[in-house]
Amino acid sequence: MTSYADFYRRSMDEPDDFWTEQAQLIDWQQPFTRVCNHDKPPFVHWFEGGKTNLCHNAVDRHLKDRPDQAALIYVSTETGVEKTYSFAELHREVQCMAASLQALGVQKGDRVLIYMPMVAEAAFAMLACARLGAIHCVVFGGFASGSLASRIDDATPKVIVSADAGSRGGKIVPYKPLLDEAIRLSHHKPEAVLLTDRGLAPMNIVAGRDQLWSDLRVRHIDAQVPCAWLDSTDISYTIYTSGTTGKPKGVQRDTGGYAVALAASMKHIFDGRAGETYFSTSDIGWVVGHSYIIYGPLIAGMATLMYEGLPTQGLDQQPDGGIWWRLVEKYKVTAMFSAPTAVRVLKKQDPALLKKYDLSSLRALFLAGEPLDEPTARWISEGLRVPIIDNYWQTETGWPLLTVANGVEKTPSKFGSPGIPMYGYRVKLLHESTGEELTQPNEKGVVVLEGPTPPGFMQTIWKDDTRFVNTYWKSVPGKMVYSTFDWGIRDENGYYFILGRTDDVINVAGHRLGTREIEESISGHAGVAEVAVVGVADSLKGQVAMAFVVPKDSSVLLDAAAALKLEGEIMKRVDGDLGALARPSRVRFVSVLPKTRSGKMLRRAIQAVCEGRDPGDLTTMDDPAALQQIKELVSAD
Ligand code: AMP
Repeated sequence: MTSYADFYRRSMDEPDDFWTEQAQLIDWQQPFTRVCNHDKPPFVHWFEGGKTNLCHNAVDRHLKDRPDQAALIYVSTETGVEKTYSFAELHREVQCMAASLQALGVQKGDRVLIYMPMVAEAAFAMLACARLGAIHCVVFGGFASGSLASRIDDATPKVIVSADAGSRGGKIVPYKPLLDEAIRLSHHKPEAVLLTDRGLAPMNIVAGRDQLWSDLRVRHIDAQVPCAWLDSTDISYTIYTSGTTGKPKGVQRDTGGYAVALAASMKHIFDGRAGETYFSTSDIGWVVGHSYIIYGPLIAGMATLMYEGLPTQGLDQQPDGGIWWRLVEKYKVTAMFSAPTAVRVLKKQDPALLKKYDLSSLRALFLAGEPLDEPTARWISEGLRVPIIDNYWQTETGWPLLTVANGVEKTPSKFGSPGIPMYGYRVKLLHESTGEELTQPNEKGVVVLEGPTPPGFMQTIWKDDTRFVNTYWKSVPGKMVYSTFDWGIRDENGYYFILGRTDDVINVAGHRLGTREIEESISGHAGVAEVAVVGVADSLKGQVAMAFVVPKDSSVLLDAAAALKLEGEIMKRVDGDLGALARPSRVRFVSVLPKTRSGKMLRRAIQAVCEGRDPGDLTTMDDPAALQQIKELVSAD
């Protein structure tokens, strides 16, 4: 067996041979002629000359050996629906969806925006786009009209695929009115909207634009739509993520490199084998959903379990904190992927639930998206008695950057550390201000990558190469390195520890949010003069957003009832613009916000005060009373 150290070294020293080998894990309709083109850094083109298709690799190529094997297991504890699609059945549904999209005018290169709850049709739509070479842009269903409108304007989709409603904890969340409002707000208008009617909420159908999937499905159910053979470098999808400005970034991914990266990660990192079941509890609106609900497991010939619902509710819609373990037993799940927040929720359930089911099929639980605290890791590790594997990555990377590759060599994990650099990633720690590489153990620096970035990594920001270069590759003076915008340290054994973001991005229950986006929404309220939003540590969600507002009418500062009213209005506004997940846990009113003399908001100092930490050097602060005010408000709780 190869040691991981040798495996990693080969990926660094002989990348062409290494990735050519990995590329054999997928089908190519036409072989590539060049493995890695890094002639114009930081841009990388993987597997030039090659032609392939993500949908072919995820679905069609399994029809020969495993047509009747489960491919998509759909479980909704919100609606009580539980249905398994074999590879042959999935193939049929995806072709039908592809024919329906074609009927609505979708062609190669067109964008299709998918704004859907966790329903099987969302998976069909993503795979159908991949089949046609259309670019899908999935927008998380928890986002509201304002966020959706800005994404519609950026992606300019020909068609939007959506549904009547989602459901959360038994509460119906209508999607269609939010979508209609978003289309009203956006400058770009889609030609058609394809709607799945789940019978959860009434829909106002716009004649000439809105189409029902049920109508198109009967028309196209026997359609045969061949996979379009795409250049390896053709765009497969874009996915929006938050940064330091209010404008979300469309992370753009290729086709061939992504397929190879996922196939390789399924083998080396997730140790997933064809015929087995993979269960990721994420949502298709996030990168984990793209890589490890839809494409990764299917490319590996595994069944993927797609789940709609809370971790604490059963199929009969009654409370059941053991539902996930019940599903692991029933579908013989071998690899499970979730987030630390979900485990913290489960920790509040009866621990006997972990013993009630036969979990012997499970080989590992992978957790990602936010820091995994040691008590949570220990609790679940003792309960499940399988390795708990933390993995650190970003929407931009597409697959884990730091973890352990147990499929290559069993490597011990360390509590608190996601692990060691994965093959293909040249990970470095740099000094924040000098940009010097930190080589000694336990020095704190910014986690960066040297190019060329590996297959699966973002190609660029959709329609904006300049922003891609300026945002990610120019943050360290004199060096062209990719910044993760995360702080990290590396111990004497080469294990990395992630210490939080260097920028104004916060992480609420594993969901990445830009504080700037929330600030923009809040400052749109007529009663707000100025606002600062920071992320504050929370024992359940990791972080929550907290807003500090200078009201236009200073009487609010002295009138508790007026303050409560304004707080409620501001929260409602954020709900409407961005969605409830961006709603601050509190809105507090102050007369002035702490800034430097040059006017820069001291968000890190505000955050430190909220968390009871030392705010650090405040010599550049304009008005010390500003921070004192916040301290008093927070300590009054
Ligand atoms: P996203 O792009 O939404 O996946 O968010 C990526 C960010 O989440 C990273 O830059 C980190 O700040 C954080 N993150 C993701 N995974 C981990 C992890 N395993 N440990 C610590 N932080 C993580």
